[in-house]
Amino acid sequence: MSQRFQSYINGEWIAGNGSEPDENPSDLDRPVGEYGQADAVLAARAVEAAAAAWPKWSLSTPQQRADILDAVGSEILARKEELGRLLATEEGKTLPESIGEAARAGQIFKFFAGEALRIPGEKLASTRPGVDVEITREPVGVVGIIAPWNFPLAIPAWKIAPALAYGNTVVFKPAEIVPGCAWALAEILSRAGLPAGVFNMVIGAGRVVGAAMVEHPSLDALSFTGSVPTGNGLLRQAAARGLKIQLEMGGKNPLVVLADADLDKAVECAVNGAYFSTGQRCTASSRLIVENAVYDEFAARMRKRLAQIKVGNPLEAGIDIGPVASLAQLETDLSYIKAGHEDGGELLFGGERIEIATRGHFLEPTLFAAKPEHRIAREEIFGPVAALLRADDYEHALALANDTRFGLCAGIVTNSLKHATHFKRHAQAGMVMVNLPTAGVDPHVPFGGRKGSSYGPREQGRYAVEFYTTVKTAYTAA
Ligand code: NAD
Repeated sequence: MSQRFQSYINGEWIAGNGSEPDENPSDLDRPVGEYGQADAVLAARAVEAAAAAWPKWSLSTPQQRADILDAVGSEILARKEELGRLLATEEGKTLPESIGEAARAGQIFKFFAGEALRIPGEKLASTRPGVDVEITREPVGVVGIIAPWNFPLAIPAWKIAPALAYGNTVVFKPAEIVPGCAWALAEILSRAGLPAGVFNMVIGAGRVVGAAMVEHPSLDALSFTGSVPTGNGLLRQAAARGLKIQLEMGGKNPLVVLADADLDKAVECAVNGAYFSTGQRCTASSRLIVENAVYDEFAARMRKRLAQIKVGNPLEAGIDIGPVASLAQLETDLSYIKAGHEDGGELLFGGERIEIATRGHFLEPTLFAAKPEHRIAREEIFGPVAALLRADDYEHALALANDTRFGLCAGIVTNSLKHATHFKRHAQAGMVMVNLPTAGVDPHVPFGGRKGSSYGPREQGRYAVEFYTTVKTAYTAA
């Protein structure tokens, strides 16, 4: 019998309604399991359980919270191969990438176990004689967490761990297509010693469960990662009721390759950044902006390198790229490949679906020579499809890199200190990479973007304290 993934509310496992298949995008005939949908009533119950648990949990000691988070991190790390296998099967990234993501989730819990013991505060001299001023941080309350499917362990980890570390209670809503990873994480948290109601997980449709969470008056803050349309809709709802909100959304990240670059390095950065994890990373390099003098040589080397990339079952050794995560995403990718042709782009590599022994959503890594105004060069695709753009010189490359409504990550490959330094300062992005792929970040430093990619304080590292706490200024007359 296949495994059934359930919601977790107020310390109990709840079956939910009906039975939806949890699809395996590499083998559609063998689903990962099944799950029941939670509805708006269950979502409200989860928020209420979190609200009821908060007063006591908000007074728990930092040591108590640190011990729990540390135990969660240790268990995830000890089981990273098994969790990685589940992730690779359910989401489709390769087994090494999936094990790496599981390990990262474990490290994040351990990082925030330490942060629970280092909650910052300040004491300042008052402008008035005989008065002390203390600035302290307190938990926000009930935090809603809405996550996407592309990092189904790491993204929930980097929201749940700081939320709990700083004394908040949590209602977590995973993306519809990754209930197995969400369940695995919730199952570990359910045995970690958290009082009932402190952590809740509700599996269900965004428009039903997510919306019910956001509308609930007891929700105090919402951390969202996902697409721009969903994020902007949530922002409007949050503004209408004064809800604290943080949004991490899409990207159209540029990788600039200058004429002085090591071209082997540039090709590796481009292939990794644009195509690994099937291009389904918000930090993926979907615009490769190459200086004219090396454009033809770079394009030729990319074609050669892409011909060596192996697409297939992510559990098999030697596979570079797994399937697209869902049929809906595959249809989006194929529609953009069509748009690439329609807009007059030149297909340099790929563009077709791939058949393997099992039925799955496999797609060739695809590269178009494009113009800046083409849709494939402007809109987020979120698949293994990249646009190659020609730049006259560094200044033109920088202007093209910044010519987007997004601002998540920007990369440059160059041996020029002058251009690297200038790019770090002038790229309009929350993260900048020099001689590195745009995707692939450290877990202990801030993560986030500018412009249309993000809203609100940064995630991860010590900067997470900004969103998950509220500041109090206390004056005392001596
Ligand atoms: P999505 O916006 O479709 O869904 C994200 C989450 O929102 C899901 O859990 C979904 O169920 C929920 N949701 C959908 N409609 C909702 C509603 N009306 N109310 C409340 N919740 C709702 O995004 P996705 O397809 O899961 O993820 C892909 C997107 O995520 C891409 O745009 C990608 O760039 C972005 N992403 C961004 C980052 C980042 O940190 N910037 C990281 C990973 C992914």
